[in-house]
Parts: sequence; structure tokens; C-alpha cells
Amino acid sequence: MPLQEHQIKLLEKKELTKDMFELRFSKPDGFDYKAGQFVQCLIPGDGKTTPRSYSIASTPTDEYLEFCVKYLPNGLASEFFKKMNAGDTVAMRGPLGRFVCRDEAPSHVHVATGAGIAPVMGMIRDELENKDKTHSVHLLFGLRFEEDLFWIERLDHITNTYKNFSYQLTLSRPTDTWEGLRGRVTEHLDEHEATHDFYICGSKEMVQDTKKLLSEKGVSKEQIHFEIF
Ligand SMILES: Cc1cc2nc3c(=O)[nH]c(=O)nc-3n(C[C@H](O)[C@H](O)[C@H](O)COP(=O)(O)OP(=O)(O)OC[C@H]3O[C@@H](n4cnc5c(N)ncnc54)[C@H](O)[C@@H]3O)c2cc1C
Repeated sequence: MPLQEHQIKLLEKKELTKDMFELRFSKPDGFDYKAGQFVQCLIPGDGKTTPRSYSIASTPTDEYLEFCVKYLPNGLASEFFKKMNAGDTVAMRGPLGRFVCRDEAPSHVHVATGAGIAPVMGMIRDELENKDKTHSVHLLFGLRFEEDLFWIERLDHITNTYKNFSYQLTLSRPTDTWEGLRGRVTEHLDEHEATHDFYICGSKEMVQDTKKLLSEKGVSKEQIHFEIF
């Protein structure tokens, strides 16, 4: 059956960094999805529409659909979203994807870089806020520079609210004054036992490197879940 198409209206747009946007849209009535899934936005241009995929960063019980979009200069969707104002609409179809949390897993480690935090944010919030999970939920979040930091207040708030949540933030190209973790996410995987389920989201290279290292550590295929942007 073809996926239903919906018009969604932009409610709020925030510039999180110089190239990262948070966009909140109206949620169509009855739109049901699982945390971690994505939609295809149908981007208009040249008399046609072109689909572009975006992971939903909100949870199924939120009254809005939230996205976190990295702006790529001259990118079709990037330029479209950049010009969008509150009240404007875009067509989308969904939900799609199988990057969702396995309920029976004992504990979860989420590994995300850049906009890869989008589905992971929805999954983490859904597990803690809606499913009352008591198992440990950890996030390993990688960015490049200090100026790329975003959603840190949100992560601190979740940490302060849920005892079973923790996160590590690592920068691959920090300045000398950065006092936090350094290096790529792949340099910090050793700290996590092979008994967890791992949810990985980011670039193809990061996902492949992380999967390889986890396999070498003895993490089984069933415990590794991923989405490539
Ligand atoms: C399942 C899934 C979920 C995703 N979720 C997210 C998400 O939550 N957030 C997110 O930010 N992204 C996400 N993505 C990526 C997203 O779908 C887009 O690929 C991304 O936003 C770029 O789209 P765009 O239309 O802006 O750029 P495109 O038009 O696809 O262009 C990409 C880049 O290529 C350059 N380019 C385009 N055409 C040419 C050309 N002819 N010659 C040279 N260079 C060119 C552009 O300048 C731009 O820098 C997801 C992808 C998948 C598959």
C-alpha cells in the first residue's frame, strides 16, 4: 500500500549552530510512528518534488514532529528549509524505517555524530519518558568543534531527570582549552561492555568503523542497529 502523504506546517525554526537547524512541524492527526523512524519530505522545485529523508527527533507522544537538519550549501532540501518560515507547509510521507529500539535488550548505548543525534534523541526520550525503562541508557555523541555544540542543555536536563541516563560528548577537533573528551566516537567504544545493544547513527564512514570495532569486541549482529545518513 503506498504511504499516505501529509501536509505539515512549520511551527518553529531554531538555528542551533551555524549549520544546524531544529525544525518543529505540526503532527498530522493520527500520525503514528515509532521513535527512531524517519519521513520523506517532498521538496518542491522545477515543477516537481524530490524526496529527502529526515529522522524524527521527537517522541510519538509529543504534539509536534521535530527534525534536526544539517545545512549543506546549495543542497536542495537544505536551501528549502533555510528559506522556510513559520506557517509554511511541506508535503511528507511516512513513517519509514526499522531503526527502532529493541524492547527486550538489557541496556542501550547510542552512538551518534552530528545530525545523527536526531533519531537517537527521539529513542532516548521515548525510552525514558514514555516506556519508563529502568535499564541503563547511554549516549556517546561526537561533534567536531566547540562551535558545533547543540542540544547540550537538553542532554543535561535528561541526565538530571533520569538516574539511568548518562552521556559522553567527544570533539574530534577541539581547541587547546577544551576540557572534555577528545577524539572520534570510535576512540571511546572500549569503555562500553559488549553486553549492550548499540544504536549507531551518522555518516557511512562512522557507522562502518563503529560496526567493525563492535564486532571485534564480540558484539553480535543482533545487538547492532544503525542508520546511515
Ligand atoms: C534514513 C535517513 C535519515 C536522514 N535523516 C537526516 C536528519 O535527520 N538530518 C539531516 O540533516 N539529514 C538527514 N538525512 C540526510 C538527508 O536525507 C539529505 O541527504 C541531506 O539533508 C542533504 O540533502 P539536501 O537536499 O540538502 O542536499 P543535496 O541536494 O542532496 O546535496 C548534498 C550536497 O551535495 C552538493 N551537491 C548537490 N548537487 C551537486 C552537484 N551537481 N555537484 C556538486 N555538488 C552537488 C550540495 O551542495 C550539498 O552540499 C537522512 C538520510 C537518510 C537516508
